[in-house]
Amino acid sequence: MPEYKLYINGEWVDSASGKTFDSLNPATEQSIGKFQEGNEADVKKAIDAAEDALEKWSEMPPPKRGLVLLRIAELLKQDKERLGKLVTTEMGKVLPEGLGDVQEAIDVFEYMAGEGRRLFGHTTTSELPDKFAMTIRIPVGVMGLITPWNFPIAIPAWKTSAALICGNTMVIKPSSDTPLCAIELVKIMEKAGVPPGVVNLVSGPAKTVGQEIVKNKKIDGLSFTGSRETGEWIMANVGVKKVGMELGGKNPIIVMDDADLALALDGIIWAAFGTTGQRCTACSRVLLHKAVKEKFMKMLVERTKKLRLGSGLEKTTDVGPLINKAATEKSGRYVEIGKKEGAKLLCGGEAPKGKGFFFAPTVFDGVLPDMRIAQEEIFGPVLSVIEIKNLDEAIEIANGTEYGLSSSVYTKDVRNAFVAMKKIEAGITYINSPTIGAEVHLPFGGIKKTGFTREAGIEGIEEFSHSKALYIDYSGRLQKATIDD
Ligand code: ADP
Repeated sequence: MPEYKLYINGEWVDSASGKTFDSLNPATEQSIGKFQEGNEADVKKAIDAAEDALEKWSEMPPPKRGLVLLRIAELLKQDKERLGKLVTTEMGKVLPEGLGDVQEAIDVFEYMAGEGRRLFGHTTTSELPDKFAMTIRIPVGVMGLITPWNFPIAIPAWKTSAALICGNTMVIKPSSDTPLCAIELVKIMEKAGVPPGVVNLVSGPAKTVGQEIVKNKKIDGLSFTGSRETGEWIMANVGVKKVGMELGGKNPIIVMDDADLALALDGIIWAAFGTTGQRCTACSRVLLHKAVKEKFMKMLVERTKKLRLGSGLEKTTDVGPLINKAATEKSGRYVEIGKKEGAKLLCGGEAPKGKGFFFAPTVFDGVLPDMRIAQEEIFGPVLSVIEIKNLDEAIEIANGTEYGLSSSVYTKDVRNAFVAMKKIEAGITYINSPTIGAEVHLPFGGIKKTGFTREAGIEGIEEFSHSKALYIDYSGRLQKATIDD
């Protein structure tokens, strides 16, 4: 069994605890390797290394840092096949999506490399004569990056690429379900010439490694993607740091009576059951116009029943496993809750017998907007269909959860499209395409209880840097801003 180490100050080292844990292939339940169970002492060492490396890295001209990022993108490209397979093996998503995970990492490193020649501030006017004003971007400092397992290379890549180009140094804590994907990304960074101490990786439990990163006062900024519960705990314990939060979603797709139903069906199947429903942007609610409901439900159930469960490495598989046993139990629990609430189970609803953390793609009809299955994030292949009479009602229901990440409307009516784009409370709205498929040069993030972060795009730069105001007074006398008048 291969054993993997922590990466601290440019060296691969054992954890202080001397303990290890396993990462399982969710399709087979077999271990793919042993990983260090880091603890608080390891995090402190990693933070010290990041602190020591900060001055030199942040002083390097950003276009030069950009060249390091480009090399990372290049190495990812060369290794894409192997890494895509690793994503599928460690996380479970089907191979085309595993490769997509790596592609997203390539895209974001390429994009952020270019940002090294921009990192724009702005120049502006001054209220006083002979005075010049502008802003520049400065690094946050030492950052903690806490990542989930559902995009095990792409999310660490989103965070590290932006953090690196802005001149920060960092400690990454990957999810214990997918440590190897993050380790492979860090190995590529090492090979690409990221200097020792700039990127450190400490695998291990949330309670020790995660909580130390959150609470440690030497960490200047924290970027977190994960569950709502953890996000709330972090907000209550993080102290004064620059914080980024990307939590869950309960993303709706509205299907209007004038929609192209075949197109909507393709989109819904992909958004609800792609990645086995484990994207933060996965569609878990279809708000379906009553005029097309009967016809569309038949199409939806027929297609859902045809989806083939299996290992993501098999070409014949449409839907891979969930990440772990707890996830299958959670989906099962919500199916029972849905039934008890009076929703009608049309297909799926069970975990098949045998090895692997599989769960059948599930559709509930007759769901009411305030049922728990329509309100709470399940993070599995469980889709709720809610009937709507018109767009106003659909938007009210779409907005009637605590989350606000992604959303979508299928319609041929330009008025419907524009009203929905304006009124849906979400960080992302798609027209005639599903709730998933973000591009790396646009901001990604949500509102309400989903969080307040924007990653990727220019906004991603803002997330990983501070804006600093500069005033240059060349009048030769003391000017006192507004009180001079
Ligand atoms: P998920 O269900 O997506 O794994 P979690 O919020 O449990 O969501 O985990 C996301 C990441 O946050 C993981 O790397 C996990 O280990 C870490 N984590 C969980 N709880 C805490 C915590 N209290 N403090 C810091 N990190 C945590």
